[in-house]
Amino acid sequence: MRTVVWMPQEVRQTCIDEASRTFPLETGGTFMGWWAGPTPAVITAVIGPGPKALHERRHFQPDQDWQLEQIACYYEASGRRETNLGDWHSHPRRTERSLSWTDRRALRSIIGTPSARCPAPLMAVLWGHPDDWQTAMWQAQLQPRRLLWDQLVVNEARLRSLDSPTGLADSSTCLSSTK
Ligand SMILES: [Zn+2]
Repeated sequence: MRTVVWMPQEVRQTCIDEASRTFPLETGGTFMGWWAGPTPAVITAVIGPGPKALHERRHFQPDQDWQLEQIACYYEASGRRETNLGDWHSHPRRTERSLSWTDRRALRSIIGTPSARCPAPLMAVLWGHPDDWQTAMWQAQLQPRRLLWDQLVVNEARLRSLDSPTGLADSSTCLSSTK
């Protein structure tokens, strides 16, 4: 069954603005939200790349310390209901939706980091250019195999738009500066 991911318009617009701001360099952020049952995910907020993020033409590295602080703050502010669901990043000037091998490696490492508490992370890619950003949402999982190492399975999720944000937290507490 394909995972359904609900994304508020406002969150999508934040990602688009951020992708255009750093174009033609890559940027990204991380999603907060919750799982509503076995397959739908509800995104409530997006945390920015952080002040010490690295933006390059074919590479993006978030300011991880800063993001972890923001994630923890948001988690507490939401009464420990909204957790980190996964990440997004831009693929400037790219013409297709797919993840790179580096992206796949990153997903494997998120799944393999128990403290990340994200066994089935989402990863969204905004590809294109400032006049036309397309969004593709992926979800990764490790499938155990007998005798062999676990296989990384990445499926495209079904992205649905929400008109208004659904966050429980007062995002201004933590996210006063999302850049
Ligand atoms: Zn990528």
